[in-house]
Amino acid sequence: MPYGYHNRILHVDLTNGAFEIEQPGEAFYRKYMGGSALGAYYLLRNSPAGIDPLSPQNTLVLALSVLTGAPISGQSRMTAVAKSPLTLGIGDSQCGGFFPAEMKFAGFDAIVIRGRAQRPVYLWIHNGTAEILPADHLWGKLTGEVESQIKDELDDDKIEVLQCGPAGENRVRFAALISMSTRANGRTGMGAVMGSKNLKAVAVRGSQRPPIADRKKLLELARWGAGNLESSSLYGLSQLGTAGIVSSQNASGGLPTRNWESGTFDGWEKLDGKTMAETIFTRRDTCYACTVRCKRVVETNQGPHPLRVQYGGPEYETIAMFGSNCGIDDLEAVAYANQLCNMYGMDTISCGMTIAWAMDCFEHGVLTENDTGGIALHFGDAEAMVRMVEMIARREGFGDLLAEGSAIAASKIGRGAADLTLTVKNQELPAHMPQVKPSLGLIYAVNPFGADHESSEHDSTYARFPERMAELGLTDPQPSEALNEEKVRFALITQYWNSCMDSVNICQFVFGPSWHLYSPSQLVEAMQAITGWDVTLKELLRVGERRLNMLRAFNARDGIGREADVLPKKLSRALKGGKSEGLTVNKEQIEQAKDWYYAMAGWDVNTGMPTREKLDQIGLTWIADELHL
Ligand code: SF4
Repeated sequence: MPYGYHNRILHVDLTNGAFEIEQPGEAFYRKYMGGSALGAYYLLRNSPAGIDPLSPQNTLVLALSVLTGAPISGQSRMTAVAKSPLTLGIGDSQCGGFFPAEMKFAGFDAIVIRGRAQRPVYLWIHNGTAEILPADHLWGKLTGEVESQIKDELDDDKIEVLQCGPAGENRVRFAALISMSTRANGRTGMGAVMGSKNLKAVAVRGSQRPPIADRKKLLELARWGAGNLESSSLYGLSQLGTAGIVSSQNASGGLPTRNWESGTFDGWEKLDGKTMAETIFTRRDTCYACTVRCKRVVETNQGPHPLRVQYGGPEYETIAMFGSNCGIDDLEAVAYANQLCNMYGMDTISCGMTIAWAMDCFEHGVLTENDTGGIALHFGDAEAMVRMVEMIARREGFGDLLAEGSAIAASKIGRGAADLTLTVKNQELPAHMPQVKPSLGLIYAVNPFGADHESSEHDSTYARFPERMAELGLTDPQPSEALNEEKVRFALITQYWNSCMDSVNICQFVFGPSWHLYSPSQLVEAMQAITGWDVTLKELLRVGERRLNMLRAFNARDGIGREADVLPKKLSRALKGGKSEGLTVNKEQIEQAKDWYYAMAGWDVNTGMPTREKLDQIGLTWIADELHL
């Protein structure tokens, strides 16, 4: 009997309305485990090279893992994988909340969606069965309305709904998948892929819980987590949410400000987690079975930006992108922009960064009111920022161009607009600055789906958490500002670790090698207790390495390699003000780091692509064959 999984993968062909259930067996689950690795497997198997990401040939995989739904913090995560309309390579994004656990209880480990329905539809998946239902009446509606309507018509308010939102229908390239009206598979445009399939939503409900091999051991670990939260480094996150790091980011000179002109913002205090707690905050929220409760719920009926509890509160990334990076210190306006993104279904990082880039273009005269339809896009103008969010979601006026994302929009504008973008592989940088975190800059460059802050550990943690780092074999702590060979090894090994966490679908706040609640070896214990497998930490790192190679191989199949691993020009301009005054990213240093990185990964240093030798070594000979290596 399988522990922790159903051994059931649901395949859906929307073109002809057909379902198939695959039972891949234990060896498959042990090798790929779930999430991103499992998603990449089905994408590589089902979609040929060179496809248009918004065509029916794209495959959208919604993947859980062998841990999802178990009674311990941090396991309720779902990874969406497809070819990305933003990066034009691999797309990959995680969400938390209650949808992942409920999808597991609905009886499947993953849903593999191909084709395109002729009319809008939604999927209804419950207790091992699946139906395709009409969704014409839901098309164009906001996420909160759709969620209520589906619960009403299926007569069950415990149903969880994942949906693309109007932005996904409109194929905004950074459209997100939204669940609970608050949680997002935000990055790489997975909402646009769902919308392009005429698939409005996936509704799930069930009571099919896979058995757990050693429930007693797992509950001991869960109790340990609850008992040690208050004394752990995670406690601040639990109390103030991710918004609590605005102050430390600003103090270190790492808070993106006015499209990365500076790492310090005068108005930071008005945006900080403490200010949120004293003003618009109403209560904490959580993901299924998580003791940390880091999510924020906000509300206000005052002023021009009413906030509804239904749409949740902003995270640090959102605050930085719509706040300091747009030169805005109005927390209610920032929270309102967050609400709009959750209503329409958009990634707050790419949306905020794209608006900040447009403001920078406007301030430099690259864009004028003739381009923007009469809107003066000045830094600090909260009304203009909020207006642009809605125009992007609806693809109205100038918003239609910004809905392409800043890199593609810049290439259409010309006139030097590309020099002001901050993207890698078309994806906008998140709110952690490589000028003060150099190994993160390397990972921004080489990561297969573009710049991402959750694909490796950040620089200062190597020296700050030596005991936990040693569990991953990292025993030579380096200064935060260094980018030497050992720091590159730190970046790669922690990238394998995070890659594993995105495959076993674990919240990166809860399990990790530094400030997190549980250590890597405790994840091994949880895995053993849930699955009954004699899994080791080395095996988990290998899963992470396998997943990273699969994502990289997907890009290699489309000819994307080292030449795409490039940081934006704007990072070589000196930052202004604060602790990071004068800091830049050194291009030569990054190129040297890339050489070391590719060699350590076992890839071709000239092309940055996986080699047959490496793919054979990690059990991916079938990919080497497909790539004709
Ligand atoms: S730490 Fe926060 S984001 Fe992670 S599972 Fe818990 S509540 Fe969700």
